[in-house]
Amino acid sequence: MTVPRLAGTALLLPCRVIAALLPRELRGIHDKVAQGVRISDEDALTLYRTKDLNALGALANLVRERKNGNVATYILNRYINYSNVCLLSCQFCAFGAKKREAHAFEQTIPEIEATVRSALADGITEVHMVGGLHPSLKPEWYLDLLRTLRALDPALHLKCFTAVEVRHLAERVFKRPIRETLETLREAGLGSLTGGGAEIFDPEIRDRICRGKETAEEWAEVHRTWHQLGGRSTCTMLYGHLEGLHHRVDHLRRLRELQDETGGFTGFIPFAFEPAGARPELRHLPHASGYDELRNLAVARLYLDNFDHITAYWISLGLPFASVALSYGVDDLHGTISEEKIFHLAGAQTPQEQTVAALEKAIREAGREPRQRNTHYERIDSTARGRFGGGRAALVS
Ligand code: SF4
Repeated sequence: MTVPRLAGTALLLPCRVIAALLPRELRGIHDKVAQGVRISDEDALTLYRTKDLNALGALANLVRERKNGNVATYILNRYINYSNVCLLSCQFCAFGAKKREAHAFEQTIPEIEATVRSALADGITEVHMVGGLHPSLKPEWYLDLLRTLRALDPALHLKCFTAVEVRHLAERVFKRPIRETLETLREAGLGSLTGGGAEIFDPEIRDRICRGKETAEEWAEVHRTWHQLGGRSTCTMLYGHLEGLHHRVDHLRRLRELQDETGGFTGFIPFAFEPAGARPELRHLPHASGYDELRNLAVARLYLDNFDHITAYWISLGLPFASVALSYGVDDLHGTISEEKIFHLAGAQTPQEQTVAALEKAIREAGREPRQRNTHYERIDSTARGRFGGGRAALVS
């Protein structure tokens, strides 16, 4: 049985009404969700396998509205890629390059400083900065970069580096343990870690899509250490390539377990593999369908009961579809972003930035109330107005 237009209105309906409309295989899971009982890996597989997407969305919406009411958030942020030169050659990646390759680039610190200075005038509250595993940049370069950006505005949040970059910096650049490296980076201005590099944790799939990259355990160790130091971070999943549904559940389980342990993740951001820019062995794969993208978000919302926020990455989904996802467990549309390179080099056809007006329109069209947030998903009040139509702001919740 389908449940037309149930997603997005679930809070208005008594749970017993929702339960009666659900397909039989989801009713037991509904009872757990309604009672706040954690669902199992087997439940997650059942959710992934259901053909009733609206029913799945309605279930996810119960959790989404319990945790975040009718609000959907966004952030004013600026993406920076300081360099794409990388020691690794992940099979799925169109971004990384060797120095000799035509699309290799490196930005200087003054160039990055000028970009961020301009973005500050537009009202951003966060810089989101990642790069390749650069073979020759020195420790002082990274520290100078962070110090320079922090000096521009001490209130600007510097969300930088994936776990694989941190491991690279620790082992090859700083030649220090991960904890010491993170402390040194934080002293220079690092505010939080990005969630990238998680891909899919299963070692066999990992070897086929990103051979040589750090293992799941190594990825987790970086985030665990950062959380133990009091830091927060996000986490991701790259899906829609060679993995099976059980690999996705395994990935979610590892994240849920680490969150049980540290409580340091602020949000989960899944995105689909972009085949067009991948290496030949992966390029033939089809892009994940819209159905798959929505069910993945909804299952994540239901399984990750210890996460407060699920973000729809509009760079991957497109803003119209990200808006639909607000009825399938999602409570956040990420940010203004500006100049996204990683997905666009891989073939994404979405825009490279959004205005606040566009993000708020997408949120209102989904029947949600838009709110600007900071890096930690705390809602803030806009005052000053920049190019994107938003601004620096005070915490409201
Ligand atoms: S995904 Fe990251 S580590 Fe892998 S090749 Fe691309 S830039 Fe390098």
